[in-house]
Amino acid sequence: MTLATVRRYRPTRNPTTEGEAVVVGGSMAGLLAARILADSYREVTVIERDPTPTEPIARRGVPQGRHVHLLLEAGRATLEDLFPGFGEELARRGGVILDGSRDVMHHQEGDFLADGTRQFPLYFATRPLFEHVVRRRVADLDAVTFRSRCQWTDYLVDGSATAVTGVAVNTAEGHSEELGADLVVDATGRTSRTPTWLRAHDYDPPATDEVRVGMAYSTACIERPVDDRQMVLAAPSPELGRGGSTFPVEDGGRLVTLFGLHGDHPPTDEDGLIEFAADLPVGHFERLLETRTWLSEDIAHYPFPTSIRRRYGDLERFPEGLLVVGDALASFNPIYGQGMSVAALEALALHHALANGSREDLALRFFDRVEDIVDVAWTLSVGGDFAFPQTEGPKPRGTDLTNRYISRLLRRSHDDRVLREAFVRVLMMERPPTTLFSPHILWRVLKPKM
Ligand SMILES: Cc1cc2nc3c(=O)[nH]c(=O)nc-3n(C[C@H](O)[C@H](O)[C@H](O)COP(=O)(O)OP(=O)(O)OC[C@H]3O[C@@H](n4cnc5c(N)ncnc54)[C@H](O)[C@@H]3O)c2cc1C
Repeated sequence: MTLATVRRYRPTRNPTTEGEAVVVGGSMAGLLAARILADSYREVTVIERDPTPTEPIARRGVPQGRHVHLLLEAGRATLEDLFPGFGEELARRGGVILDGSRDVMHHQEGDFLADGTRQFPLYFATRPLFEHVVRRRVADLDAVTFRSRCQWTDYLVDGSATAVTGVAVNTAEGHSEELGADLVVDATGRTSRTPTWLRAHDYDPPATDEVRVGMAYSTACIERPVDDRQMVLAAPSPELGRGGSTFPVEDGGRLVTLFGLHGDHPPTDEDGLIEFAADLPVGHFERLLETRTWLSEDIAHYPFPTSIRRRYGDLERFPEGLLVVGDALASFNPIYGQGMSVAALEALALHHALANGSREDLALRFFDRVEDIVDVAWTLSVGGDFAFPQTEGPKPRGTDLTNRYISRLLRRSHDDRVLREAFVRVLMMERPPTTLFSPHILWRVLKPKM
């Protein structure tokens, strides 16, 4: 499901608020779940093991936070629905709003893609600033309480272990405590322990797809003059499994992230990173790193060996009172920039799953809705990953043929604005991938070149 096909947020849908919910993990997926639950539950407690930062700074529990985080159109529009004025607030705090059609230089398949055919806003900020603005808005909700430096240790269960009835935590003061809840949401990210917990309580854990991409990110933040506002993206190719992404962020900064797949990892020293950049098909990255003042003292590094998808929707038995969201459900190759936007669409799925007021079979109904959202993101990212012959794991059917078609579409997009538009809308999770196969697009891709 994409922005075009998902049912959007309708504020008046859940008029009754009763019961208590606990969200474990106060990062993007957890905060967005809390935002939705505050419409339906009297009390929503967000448990987070990190201290709550008062400023937008990177946190220990979100080590990916120092790397570029692109917010796709599906995420941007949903955040605006959930937090009206989100973009304005982001901009007030230094975030940058660009035109996704003209301000993005996207290099793939040997050249830059043509400009798009319509303007659309893209919000740029560091990942900590995105989270900060969302957290501030969630904190304004009467129903929501934050418990920071508080670590989840276990789920509480009823006598027959058919329902989760709360959580056990270690508090900031170092005590064990039990919190009862009608609903618990696991938003602890890709290292979620719910599968292990299920196994220990005689449930089947979800089947897990793992696709090995052997990737790593290295990121520096450099100085940015006020009028330097473009995003540059150099996509990797099967011939050169390295790429980069750079865009403006708050406080006069520009993040420069370089990445490499299947072991071709960007180094963590300045000279090494510049040398790595020199091999990219566009000179922007090397030039920026060489000529600009560096604001970051060190180079952030993040290894990302595999994309992971846990198929909770296929389980026949699952305890009542428990949901899993965000990276705990599926963690995608980050070069496609999907995680925060998928979390936003999942929040919509939760909103609609709660909409009829019934909490019965909530998990099944939620996982069912979420499956369609994850499916699109997974097919796009994993499909792209299998363009690299070294990628290992379950390959979606038809991937090779699709990749050949997309490769041709991209080459044609170098000077066809309609094709670039169609491609970017799919990449932004705005429209379904099937739109790339509509007759007028097919014709533009396959027609003989004059
Ligand atoms: C290198 C990299 C780059 C990325 N780039 C992008 C991008 O460009 N665009 C995009 O949309 N997404 C991107 N992502 C993905 C994005 O970061 C995540 O999808 C997003 O943060 C949502 O994740 P989450 O909230 O599910 O989990 P996380 O962000 O991993 O947060 C989990 C939270 O749970 C807390 N926690 C964990 N265990 C416990 C416990 N026992 N008790 C209490 N709290 C606990 C952690 O402290 C943390 O706050 C990228 C990811 C990586 C790795």
